[in-house]
Amino acid sequence: MEMKVISSLEYQPPSIKAGYTDHILQVDLESYTISQLNLPLDFKDRYIGGRGYALKLIWDGTSENTRYDSPENLLVMASGPLGNEPRFPGSGKFIVGTISPLTDTFVDSNIGGHFAPLLKLCGFDALAISGISHKEVVLTVDSDKGIIQIAEAPSFGEETDSGALSYGEALLKYVNNGEFDENIAAVTAGIGALNTRFGIINSLFYDRRRGRIRSKQAGRGGTGTVMRTKGLKAVTVRSSLPRIGANNPVDARGVKEAGASLKRVVSQVDPRQLRLSSWGTPILIEYMDKYHILPVNNYQYGQHPDAKAIFAEVFLDRYFAKKIPDGCYKGCNLACAKGAEDITLQYGPQAHRKVGIDGPEYETAGAVTSMGIFDPQFIMEYNWYCDQYGLDTISMGVTTSFLMECVQRGYLSEREIGYELAWGNLESANRLLHETAIGKGFGKICSQGVHRAKAWVAEQYAKNAGLPLDRVTQELNKFSMETKGLEFSMYITKESLAQQGGYGFALKGPQHDEAWLIFIDQVHKELPTFETKAQALKWFPLIRTWFNAVGLCKLPWIDVRHPEAASTENPAQNLPTLAYYVQYLNATLGSNKTLQDVLDDSERLYLIQKLINLRHGKGTRSSDQIPLRAMGPAFFNEYEARSDYYDAWLTDQLGEGQMPDEPRDRHALITKLRKEAYERLCDAVYKEKGYSPDGVPMPETLEKFDLLDEKALNLL
Ligand code: SF4
Repeated sequence: MEMKVISSLEYQPPSIKAGYTDHILQVDLESYTISQLNLPLDFKDRYIGGRGYALKLIWDGTSENTRYDSPENLLVMASGPLGNEPRFPGSGKFIVGTISPLTDTFVDSNIGGHFAPLLKLCGFDALAISGISHKEVVLTVDSDKGIIQIAEAPSFGEETDSGALSYGEALLKYVNNGEFDENIAAVTAGIGALNTRFGIINSLFYDRRRGRIRSKQAGRGGTGTVMRTKGLKAVTVRSSLPRIGANNPVDARGVKEAGASLKRVVSQVDPRQLRLSSWGTPILIEYMDKYHILPVNNYQYGQHPDAKAIFAEVFLDRYFAKKIPDGCYKGCNLACAKGAEDITLQYGPQAHRKVGIDGPEYETAGAVTSMGIFDPQFIMEYNWYCDQYGLDTISMGVTTSFLMECVQRGYLSEREIGYELAWGNLESANRLLHETAIGKGFGKICSQGVHRAKAWVAEQYAKNAGLPLDRVTQELNKFSMETKGLEFSMYITKESLAQQGGYGFALKGPQHDEAWLIFIDQVHKELPTFETKAQALKWFPLIRTWFNAVGLCKLPWIDVRHPEAASTENPAQNLPTLAYYVQYLNATLGSNKTLQDVLDDSERLYLIQKLINLRHGKGTRSSDQIPLRAMGPAFFNEYEARSDYYDAWLTDQLGEGQMPDEPRDRHALITKLRKEAYERLCDAVYKEKGYSPDGVPMPETLEKFDLLDEKALNLL
């Protein structure tokens, strides 16, 4: 079989200096043009890389009218200057940024694997794709041969073609002369990405130790949907250049020292703390269950007696190969990317097939418990099918559990769905998953995500019940777990005001990669006042933005606390470890930046993202509102399930002797106090960030970062 090439470019791969190639690969799928953009020298100083590059390209290249399926929408994949250095842990990360089908504003999702390091070795800091192809295509970038091509997507048979994992594997083998090796990687999106608004992008790479192709995912916000909407099925990158030292850092010894220091802390401390290197993120299931944070039945409850059936040791014993270090990129000794071999599927259209499964992450397990299901085999299969279809496990799970609660509360019935959709009903959850992926039956409603499914349910119910649409929508708003159009990730925030803000203020919507404060706040009580919460809600998003800009994984910093952090003023910031990151940055770039410089660099990016949100109508206080379910017990049954806890909380707030006699009055009072607290938090955070009370940056805040131009002024 020959690939039918539509257009090609022969090129000389630009070299890497001090972490950058200073080139972006631009591909327009409307005109099938391929070009190299040579960046001006100050571009990297202002926009750093990764998320910063995606923000700048999208801020300049799109408008307030751009939607996910507009030809001018850009799909940007970018690492950063610190990506691609196996001597430093976590350097395989990149971000995918675009205008989201769920939120209608900028979204980005970070993802691991070998794709971004190889793209950089191919000579590019970023790949920016515009236009919509009228036929399905693949893009191949081959620095060994010095050629970049757009070709008609080859077919490997109907079943293989529809699966993001199967297609990627077949394509990698095909373009690499029938072999898998570490010098080639791919990104793909499957049929589910085409049929839903929450499609993911898979990053496929060859794992020598496991002897198979593995995958990581850019899960949030529908990046895969944009990729398939553009007609792009896959991108492959190949380079056989050596990777160690490939960034050509200014101070090679400094890079080596910083990496060795971080690796030492990880290997000494992780086995005594979270044990991510042995257990992966499923270790979190037990902790979350213990502290009432694990979402059960659409976040109604945070704990369940059956949860022990899915604690990490179950996955370790039954599924994970125990002794393989599972880094998603070379050199990561935290190695949390667990996986399983030769699992025979029991459910769904591919039952009886034997597959390797990458995961589950905690989030995927939480998505399944949110449906009231505690079956480890189902979690494994849900994980595999979502990856194969190209679906976000979080959005799929949260939308399903929202619909289940609509049934519980009488807003939906078997008549509309076609079958029983009840808590814990594995068969119907499974059926809805497959219907959603292929765009059939009630899956068409689920495929739209919570925000749009809610509008559909409200309209049907209001019409049938003869009620005003507004009233029905208000009731559904209480338990529809979305903000700005994005589904919540898998942490119950009812008892952590700081994490409520972590979700509500997150610019892309409620994903914890901007601020994960739930343990610091709820469990360790390190943020006791509105002011300390507000400071954390400014500081953590800025440092986390930096990680997404430079091409690094955050976990070795945030999930492994340095032994010396305890004696610092703010242990949660883990400053002794951050010092290694700053050292690595300066050694690579030849700069002399302080941590404050790093935060300032990030703040510029953060404000550009805020401006994009304002441009798309998602930037003010009203867009930062969260559902009542996220603030406390939205319905009486939630209060009843923990009435002792809530009564004690209320007594603490009111003082002895002030408690209402009636439980329903207590519940109503808790609701009132929680809403007031969230509004006070908004005031404190906006002040801390230099925003107006409506959540809009003040002109002086923008001016500080040289962002107060005419375009920005029009949005204030
Ligand atoms: S800590 Fe986990 S996610 Fe991060 S780079 Fe290492 S293996 Fe990948």
